[in-house]
Parts: sequence; structure tokens; C-alpha cells
Amino acid sequence: MDYSPITKAPVDQMKVRPNLIDVRTLGGHFDWQSLEKELGLVEGVNYNLAYAAIDRHLESARRNKVALYWEGKGGEQEQYTFTDLAQLTNRFANVLLGLGVKKGDRVFLFMERIPELYVAFFGALKAGAVVGPLFSAFGPDPVRDRLADSGARVLVTTPDLKVRLEPILDSLPDIKHYVMVNKNNRSSYNPAKLDLSYEEVMANASSDFKIVARSKDDYSIMHYTSGTTGKPKGAVHVHQATIQHYATGRWALDLQQNDLYWCTADPGWVTGTSYGMSAPWTNGISQLIYEGGYRASTWYSLIQKYKVTVWYTAPTAVRMLMKAGDSLPQQYDLSSLRHICSVGEPLNPEAVIWGTKVFKQPIHDNWWQTETGAILIANYPVMAVRPGSMGRPIPGVTASIVDDTFQPMPPGKEGHLAIKPPWPSMFRTYWGNEAMYRSKFKNGWYITGDRARRDEDGYFWFIGRADDVIKSAGHLVGPFEVESALIEHPAVAEAGVIGKPDPIAMEVVKAFVALKDGYQPTEELRRELMHFARKKLAAAVAPREIEFVDKLPKTRSGKIMRRLLKARELGLPAGDTSTLEDD
Ligand code: AMP
Repeated sequence: MDYSPITKAPVDQMKVRPNLIDVRTLGGHFDWQSLEKELGLVEGVNYNLAYAAIDRHLESARRNKVALYWEGKGGEQEQYTFTDLAQLTNRFANVLLGLGVKKGDRVFLFMERIPELYVAFFGALKAGAVVGPLFSAFGPDPVRDRLADSGARVLVTTPDLKVRLEPILDSLPDIKHYVMVNKNNRSSYNPAKLDLSYEEVMANASSDFKIVARSKDDYSIMHYTSGTTGKPKGAVHVHQATIQHYATGRWALDLQQNDLYWCTADPGWVTGTSYGMSAPWTNGISQLIYEGGYRASTWYSLIQKYKVTVWYTAPTAVRMLMKAGDSLPQQYDLSSLRHICSVGEPLNPEAVIWGTKVFKQPIHDNWWQTETGAILIANYPVMAVRPGSMGRPIPGVTASIVDDTFQPMPPGKEGHLAIKPPWPSMFRTYWGNEAMYRSKFKNGWYITGDRARRDEDGYFWFIGRADDVIKSAGHLVGPFEVESALIEHPAVAEAGVIGKPDPIAMEVVKAFVALKDGYQPTEELRRELMHFARKKLAAAVAPREIEFVDKLPKTRSGKIMRRLLKARELGLPAGDTSTLEDD
């Protein structure tokens, strides 16, 4: 296939003039503070993501603009203007203050993509809380780990999801209130001791609220992310991140006033908050939120129905659409689409080319991660797209490739992808784990954990992770989290977990399991373990494959050598095994 650069028309011949014309010049004389002014953010007065995304629009004609078009999984439809959102979030902020929530308290959300999730999110920010959205597909273990680690005081959830948490409710002493959203009376349930009805408390709350002004460095959002060792860590973000969401929404997603934007990510992951909430709404853009999951025909029909113009999705989704075939999209009118972006995993060059065939435009890859809080490297609308490349750094950000001693390397060399701190949306700590946070900074660089190279023209090319973390269908999976769940089963002596390459999901989780004496490696036990892990974790995190082994390769200090398991799985050379324990 031809992977040569896909050039763009000269700017004056483009149907829509992009927001960012000269990426490099803007980078030359650039200051972030001017963006704070654009958003009207003043420390001690209104410096709050909720002000930038919602309340500031009350001062312009955008107050009556539809901010949120919601399509429920059962086909329900609702719309909310910026004024509607301002009032609802005011009510929710009052509810939280009434519950005694104070500045800095953690309020967590465990909900599907319903409008109340967005109301609770911004209401909690208005009240000065630190908000932590959790992926609604999680099983009880990941939810327990996150709530216990963060010391969350309030959990906003739904009756259907709370049922799933039954096994862990006793291990959450910090939670003082469960605010139960029973959207359109979807469930009949009996409130438990700490439950409050969202509908009731909202009806009784005032829609007037004076936003709790924060300083730019005050904590706003927490997203748990997986590392190689230990349980997931809470990457903590600050209100100042807003300005970078706003800027990259303009530069990389090219959001413009008449756009109808659709971000397919769930707010349980960072893309769903930075780009499913903050970027579109700080820019005053109307967006579609679809509660349901992936289905090619539904997705195409949503684009047609809502006339989506800018679409932000992920490589796994693109690969699934490719698999669904080229004739399916021809049955829909997708001509509204004018700019398509993707993030989360490497976007195969084939997928970029496929976009030019099916959507008449390339898919624009961009790179960032939970810790960076916002897009740092992107293919912009004005740039020629080099299929397979993540693009070039955004204005105001310096990215580099550094060697193992953390010295910058020349173009063409492969090394660690590193970013020069600070940038506004940079995470500020891992909750309760400052040492781990510090360990990410070396020789004046933030080390991303990715390996990459840069070409002579400044385009970055992803090579792989530098650690054992698994990327499956766009989700980072920490092997330790899966191993811990497996060894809770009485038959399991030890478990080692790796990412096994997969054509659609990029990697699937594969576990190697050694059994305790007295247990036989039967097909039945294998199935039982898969079910056990899926119930505790989530389908996205649980192993797709389990292989029984007599013992796992370990270092002399007792650490499982996942690298070796992976090499064996792929039939590759074992590499350095000098630390392998003797048989
Ligand atoms: P997360 O923190 O869950 O958003 O995952 C971030 C990680 O996803 C990065 O460190 C990369 O390993 C991977 N990733 C994100 N975007 C890209 C991309 N455009 N190309 C390749 N890998 C990516």
C-alpha cells in the first residue's frame, strides 16, 4: 500500500478555514496566559473549569445554544442548552454543599453516559470538589480500589450499577452518601441506608449558586491509570488544564462555532473528560453524547442523523469499522463529516488511508496520555498527514526523544518519548504517591513510558511501550491488577499477565496461570477462571486467554518476568535472562 504523505489543499481553497494555520510560528511566540484571558478566568474570582465550560456562555448569545444532544441506548433523546446545564449544575453544587462536601473532597461518579453524569461532574467542580469519573463497565474490584484509594466521600451512581457493587460496599467506609440517579425511572429499587434520590434532592435544590473559585493549581479531576507494578494510580489534574483543552480543541480538533462534535470516549477515561466535556464546551460547541456502545450501523446512522462534523474516536473503533466493510458506510449520508481525529493507540497507516477512501479525508492521529491531560502531539488540519505518524507537538510544548541516560537524541533515533515540563494540563501528582510521581521526571524531562522516534521534519512515530503495560481496545491495563484478581481464586498459585497482539484491539490480555497442588488444568477450570476475573474486573480488563503453566519465569528477587512470557508467546528471543531464577 502507498503510505506516502497525504497533502492538503492550500488554506484558501479549503472548505472550512482551519483555526490553526501556522503551527510552528505560533509555537515561536506563545503564552498560555492569553488563553486564560480569552476564557475570562480570574484566580480567586471564577477560576474553575465549570465556569470556562458552562457559565461563561451565559454572558453571550450562546446561552441558548444546545450544548448537549443526548441519545440514550434505547433511542431516547434529550437536549440541554448551556443555560440548562448552568442551572442543573448549580443545583447539584447546592446538593453537595448541603451534604457537607468541602473544597477538595472527592466526589466519584459511577454511571453510564447519561446527562446526569455531566451535571454531576460540573456540579461537583462548581462546589470545589475533586471529581473522579469511573468507567461504568468496571466490576467491583476496580471500583473498590479507586474509591478506597481516593477516600471518596460521595458516589453518584445508578441503582443498576450499585447492585454490582454489593460485594464491596462494606469495604468503603469513607463513602458517606450514595446519590442514586434513577434516570426516567429505569429501575425499581429500595433505597439503602446511605442512599439519596438524585431526583428528589435536585428538585429541592436552588438553581442559584456562586461558583467556588479555585486557584489554577487546585485539583479538579482524578483519573486512575495503570502502571507496570501495583494497583492503578490516581493521576490528579488541576483547573488550569482547561486552557489546554480549549486550545487543543481549537488547534487539533479544529472545533468551530457551527460544528456538531462527537467524541466516542467514555468519561471514565481521560479522553471522555478532556475532550468529551472540557474541550467542546469551553469552545462553546454543541456535542452529541451517545449512551450506547459500539455498533457500526448505529454509529454511521448517528453521524447521519446529527450531521456530525467533527469526530474524535479511537483506533480500535476505526479497525472495527474497517472490518464491518466499505459498503456499509455507503448506505449512509456521511457528508457532514469534515474533520476526523483518533487517539489512544497507534493508528495503523492502513486506517488513515481507509479514511481517505470511505470518508474522503484522512483520519488525524494524535498522541497524549492520562498524565499529560491533553493532546501534546497532533496531525493538524493544515498539515500533510504522514500515515502512521502521531504528528507534531502542539504550540507551547516541547517533545523530544531521549536516551537511557535521558539526554536528547537526534532525529531518526529510537528512544524514550519525553516532554519538557511544565505544560498547563500536566498532572500534578499521583494521589497519595508523590514518590511515584517524582520518578516520572528525569533530567528535566517528563518520561512518558512510550518509545518513539522523530523524523527530520519533526513528526513523531510511535514504537511501543517501554514497560509491561497492556493497551487493549484503547484501555491501559496494568498486569498486576489482573494478576491480583486471578490469585484470589483458590486454585491459583501464581499468575503472569501479558498483552498478546491482536489485529483489532491491538492487544488482548493473556494470563499464564500456575495452579496450586491438587488442582488440575482442565478446560472447565480455565472457563471458571475467565468468568471469575470478568466478574471482578471488567470485560475490557479481564483475560481473553488463559494458559496453564507449571511455573512462571521469575527473577531471583521473585518478580514475574512478563517480558520473558511475552517473548515465549511470540516465539521471539528471550533477551537478557541473567536475572532469571535457577530451576
Ligand atoms: P492512557 O493514559 O490510558 O490515555 O494511555 C496513554 C497511552 O496510550 C500512551 O502512553 C501510549 O502508549 C498510547 N497512545 C495514546 N495515543 C497514541 C497514539 N496516537 N499512538 C500510539 N500510542 C498512543
